[in-house]
Amino acid sequence: GANESWNKVDEYFIGKLKLSDPILDHVLRTNRESGIPEIDVSPSQGKFLYLIAKMKGVRNILEIGTLGGYSSIWFARALPESGKVYTLEVNPEFAKIANQNIQYAGYEHKVEVIVGDALDSLPKLKERGVAPFDLIFIDADKTNNPYYLKWAMSMSKSGTLIIADNVVRDGEVTNEISSDERIHGIRQFMDLLANENRIECTSIQTVGSKGYDGFLMGLVK
Ligand code: SAM
Repeated sequence: GANESWNKVDEYFIGKLKLSDPILDHVLRTNRESGIPEIDVSPSQGKFLYLIAKMKGVRNILEIGTLGGYSSIWFARALPESGKVYTLEVNPEFAKIANQNIQYAGYEHKVEVIVGDALDSLPKLKERGVAPFDLIFIDADKTNNPYYLKWAMSMSKSGTLIIADNVVRDGEVTNEISSDERIHGIRQFMDLLANENRIECTSIQTVGSKGYDGFLMGLVK
C-alpha cells in the first residue's frame, strides 16, 4: 500500500496542479459507490497520460482494461473532436458503469467500450480496420501482457507509443520465483521486449497514492 507521505504529496499535487475537477470526482465517487475496485490510474498519472497523448497529437487510442473509464476519460480529453478511444473490458458491470461515466463526462462520441475478453476483442478490432493506433495503453490482467504486447505490435505503426501500467508491483518484478502469476506475465512481457528490435523502451518506477509501482513506455521504430 501507499505510505503516508506519498499520499500527502499526491494530495498536494492534486490541489496545486488541478488534477481533479467535478467530473473526475464524480467518476471516482460513482466507481466507489458501485463497488468498483480503486485500481484506476491516480490523478497525476491520468494527467500524465493526457499530456503524453496531447504532446504526440494522438488521434486514436487502444486501451486494454477500462475499469470505470477513468483513464479513458483522460485520454478522451486529450483527443481532437474526431479522435477515438477503443477500450476493452471483460467485466460487463464495470463496462456499464464506464459507459455511464463516459456519457456523464460528455465523451460517448469519442470512447467505445468493447465488452469481452480482450483476447477475443483484439482480433475483431483488427478486422474492423481501425488500427494502427497512435497510442496503446496496456492495463488489464497482467498475466496476458505477453499476448497484449503481440497484439499491440501488430496494431502499431512507426511512432506508435505503447504504455503498460503496473510493471513494478512493489518491486516484485525482479522476483524470478514469485508465486504471483501476474509477475510471470510481466516478466515474460519484459523478455519479449528485450528481444523485440522494433521498439525502443524505458521503464519508470513510481510512488504515490497507488503505492510503489511503475510503467513501461516504448516507441515503435
Ligand atoms: N485503465 C483503468 C483506469 O486507469 O481507469 C484501470 C484498469 S484496471 C487496472 C484493469 C481492468 O482490466 C479491470 O477492469 C478488469 O476487469 C479488466 N480485465 C481483466 N482481464 C481482462 C481481459 N482478459 N480482457 C479485458 N479486460 C480485462
